[in-house]
Formats: sequence, C-alpha cells, structure tokens
Amino acid sequence: MSDERATPWYRRLHWQIFTAMALGAAAGAIGGSEFADRVSWMGALFVRLLRMVIVPLVLTSVVSGVASIGGGRDVGRMFGKTFAYYIVTSLLAILVGLVFANAIRPGVGAELGGVGGGVLPAIETPTSIVDMLLRMVPTNPLAAAASGDILGLIVFSILLGLALGRLPDDARSRLLGVFEAGFQAMMVLTSGIIRLAPFGVFGLITSAVGSTGLEAFRALGWYALTVTGGLATHLLLVLPLLLILLGRIRPWVHFRNMAEPLAMAFSTSSSAATLPVTMRAVEQKVGVSNRISSFVLPMGATINMDGTALYECAGVLFIAQALGIELSFAKQMLVVLTALLASIGTAAIPSAGLVMIFIVLEAVELRGPQVDLIVGAMLAIDRPLDMARTAVNVFSDSCGAAIIARSEGETTVDLP
Ligand code: ASP
Repeated sequence: MSDERATPWYRRLHWQIFTAMALGAAAGAIGGSEFADRVSWMGALFVRLLRMVIVPLVLTSVVSGVASIGGGRDVGRMFGKTFAYYIVTSLLAILVGLVFANAIRPGVGAELGGVGGGVLPAIETPTSIVDMLLRMVPTNPLAAAASGDILGLIVFSILLGLALGRLPDDARSRLLGVFEAGFQAMMVLTSGIIRLAPFGVFGLITSAVGSTGLEAFRALGWYALTVTGGLATHLLLVLPLLLILLGRIRPWVHFRNMAEPLAMAFSTSSSAATLPVTMRAVEQKVGVSNRISSFVLPMGATINMDGTALYECAGVLFIAQALGIELSFAKQMLVVLTALLASIGTAAIPSAGLVMIFIVLEAVELRGPQVDLIVGAMLAIDRPLDMARTAVNVFSDSCGAAIIARSEGETTVDLP
C-alpha cells in the first residue's frame, strides 16, 4: 500500500483509467460515430481478453473456495448469508426505483414518437421460475463452460467443491492444489490484462458516447433522470449504510478499493466481463479471503443485480405512465416481485436488463405494438443507463463480500 502511495498519480492504474474515460468521452463527443467506429476495436479486444478469463476463473475459484469453506454446515451458513444479502439488497434497490418512478412520474406526457429505436440483442429469456431453476443445472458441465453458461458452471463448481471436501486427505490435497494453482494463474493473467485497461476503456467510452444520440436524451430526459437518480441513491446512500451498519466498514475506503472494478463495470456494461477485475480487487485491495470472495462474487455477478432490479421496476412504471395506465398498488407489488426475479435471471452482459423488462411487463399485462415502440425508444439511451446499473450491480457484490467476510470474523477487511 505504501508503495502505491509513493507512485505519482499519473502512474496509478485507476487514475489512468479515469483519464482514459474523460478522453474517450471528449473524443466521442467531438469525433462522433465516425471516430468511434475507428477506435471501437480497442474496447472490443479488451472485453474479449477479460471474457477469456471468466470460465477458467469461475471454475478454479469456486471449486477451491467451496472446498476450503469446510463441511456442509459451513457451506449452508454461507449460502444462507449470501442469499439473504442478495435478496435484501435487490429488494431495497427495487423500492428505491419504485419511489423515484412514483415521485418523478417520468412517463407522464413523454413524447416518444420521434425517438428512433434500435435492435434488441437476441437473448433467450426464461419462461417461468421452474424453467429458471432447471436451467441452473447443466446437463453437461463441459458444454456449459463451452457455451459460457456461467450460472450452470457455478452450480457444477459448487457441487464439485463440496465433493472434493469429502475426499480422503491425500486425494483432496492433490486435486485442490491443482485448482488453487489454476486460480492463482488466472489472477496473474487478469493483472496482465488489466494493464491494457486505459486503452480498452478509451475505446469503449468513445464508442458509447459517439453512438448515443442526444436527441433521444431530450425526449427521455425525465426517464433517464429517474433511473440515474435511483441508482445514485442506492450506490451512494443505501449500500454505504449497509456497509456501516452490517460490516462496520467505512464506505469511502470501500469505494477507493473498488475504483478499478467500478470504472471497468461502467465502461464494459458487463458484470461478467468485470468479474476477474472485481475478484482481484476484492481479494487484493479490500482484503477478503478467497474462501468468501469465490463464493459471493461469481454468483453475485450472475444473480445479484441491484442496479438491474431497480431499472426493471422504474422502467415498467415509466412504460405504464407513458401509456396512460395507472398501476394499482397490487400491480406495483407484482412489479416488485417480478423485477426481483427478472434481475436474478438477467445475463451479466450489455443490455440484457432491457430485454428482461418484457418479463415484468408481461406479469402486469402490458404488451402490444405500443409497448414495443416504447422499449425501442428506451433502447436508444440504454447504453449510458446500462453502464450506471452495471456499476451498481458490481458494487453491491463487493459490499456483500466485505460484509459477509466481516460477519465471518475477517477483521482486516477495508482497513483505512
Ligand atoms: N449489463 C448489466 C450487467 O452486466 C445487466 C443489465 O443489462 O442490466 O450487470
């Protein structure tokens, strides 16, 4: 730590990343889509490198983490705490979204006719809760890994870690050694990739700014304000309060330690692509043990999405308001519940949250060409909102890891 403080600011990675963000924003605004097209490959290459690490990282970290937790009872306790944290924070986020959407009422009088839509990414959405549960169990773990089915891979890795814990000492230590060494190798690889972050982030931000039309912002300004206001409240008020109350952690220390993953989540719009960076920061800077971070973070990146949950709720209320439909209290509660499920089922990739909004809309019977038109208009400004909600998603995961580590007796977490 003292070494890092002795380094001039411009040589510290997070400052380089923030500078790249500022330069990218300026380049995108001045150069427009033409310049953005020319540099977008830098961002694409960086994201590919990060994504390259995800599958081996999840496998090695979850298996070694779960195997080191201890017996079934310890795993059960961790599971309970982790899930309670995921559900409570997602619900809190949804309530923040609900309050903001009802207070600002961004959809009332929104003129969406002139806003051009885009093409929604093709993402398969689960059709029911049972379907969602079934999909979590892969029939073939290799196929799950090959197709990037992270949740399936996590489920297999947890079970493998549990089985490993029951092996005789000799067999266990041999196999565990392989997974632990594999995990360390992935961390080294991540540290190498992250050095390219300033270039990657420059490409990503330039293309995000260069390809988002300002016109759409004018029509959807109140909606954007509702979502960002809600996200900012959750990020700067709700989660810090939880850090203080549940973890006795100073929020600003946690923010400082999480600067790199936050910048990365914001630039890539993907919790999954950010996962290697999150794991590195939570272990090496926040100081959470691998035993806990490998349990909380990969699963958190795939199912704990506070920002997305908030967005689903605010987005659906916006659509109802734009259509002139008053949602009753009971219907709003249904939105809360389905927003929670939709956020759990959302893939950790760009724009997935907007695709999942159809599930929540369906629950309150909002469908038809007009709804499609509004979602199309929302797509026009989805990128910046996606950047913000992904940062919130990642921050909630890291807060969870820190709070759970504290509750498990780890006293060196987030030391000032
Ligand atoms: N992009 C978000 C994430 O990866 C998901 C979303 O679209 O809300 O966390």
